[in-house]
Amino acid sequence: MFENLIKLSAYNPSYFYGRRFAAHLAFAVLALTAFTSISPVMAEVSLQGKLEQGALIRGQVPTGTQVKLNGEVIKVTPEGHFAFGFDRDGELSQQLTLVYPDGLTEVKPLTIAKREYNIQSVKGISNKIMKPDPIAQERAAKDTAQVKAARASFSEQTAFLQEFIWPLTGRISGVYGSQRIYNDVPGNPHFGVDVAAKTGTVVVAPADGVISLSVPDMFYSGGTMIIDHGYGVSSSFLHLSQLYVKAGETVKQGQAVAEVGATGRANGPHLDWRLNWYQMRLDPTTIVPPMATVLAKEKAQKTAK
Ligand SMILES: [Zn+2]
Repeated sequence: MFENLIKLSAYNPSYFYGRRFAAHLAFAVLALTAFTSISPVMAEVSLQGKLEQGALIRGQVPTGTQVKLNGEVIKVTPEGHFAFGFDRDGELSQQLTLVYPDGLTEVKPLTIAKREYNIQSVKGISNKIMKPDPIAQERAAKDTAQVKAARASFSEQTAFLQEFIWPLTGRISGVYGSQRIYNDVPGNPHFGVDVAAKTGTVVVAPADGVISLSVPDMFYSGGTMIIDHGYGVSSSFLHLSQLYVKAGETVKQGQAVAEVGATGRANGPHLDWRLNWYQMRLDPTTIVPPMATVLAKEKAQKTAK
């Protein structure tokens, strides 16, 4: 029996403390006696998403459970749902702590997969954008503050739990995490996924939400829109040519919200879609099916008609 218990903890590396420990141990023993396969009988948390850098993870715990990521409390919906993310270069070992309503504490170590990122060179950025004048710099600083404030806002919507869809389908022309060298000057890593499309192509909401920012002319990002999906999760669209909805408006998944453009610092028309958990920049492709799969499905539907 002891051998079995050791096996169980190897399959399920969480450890517990608190007054429910004895009960859990008894349950584990019973479960092992009754079934030949080892199931995660102890874990009461379920996580959806790949544990890798840049990923958005969605989870569920029993109602009333407190959740902490690396010691920081995460907001949980009344039904026990929550979200969090792993930074582009985030620590490879992190820790989720769950304090169940009866006081039992579970510590769940998370092992995060490391990712490799591309380096991309972008030429032909105008001098005006490469060397912003003081007025432009002031504008850019204001833009940044406005974007930060929008992403910091907390709302109680649970749209973040939906199955996200691509806001636009097409050729992927830029990926998350890649570092761009603008006119030979290394820039910040690219945090979105770029989908190439003609100016004027319609962009839809990837999930329900409330528009938390809608500005037609930001200095670097041009026409910029942020959709708040709740509990810190937001989508941003950059370089838009048209914005159909204003801040404060509610949108539904699949609703047309904007048009593709090449406004701000862009070398051609494309949609730059970003995913955030508060200020943390995540990879939107971690919550949608692969583009190739979606395009193949679209093609099959077209030929079926
Ligand atoms: Zn981009």
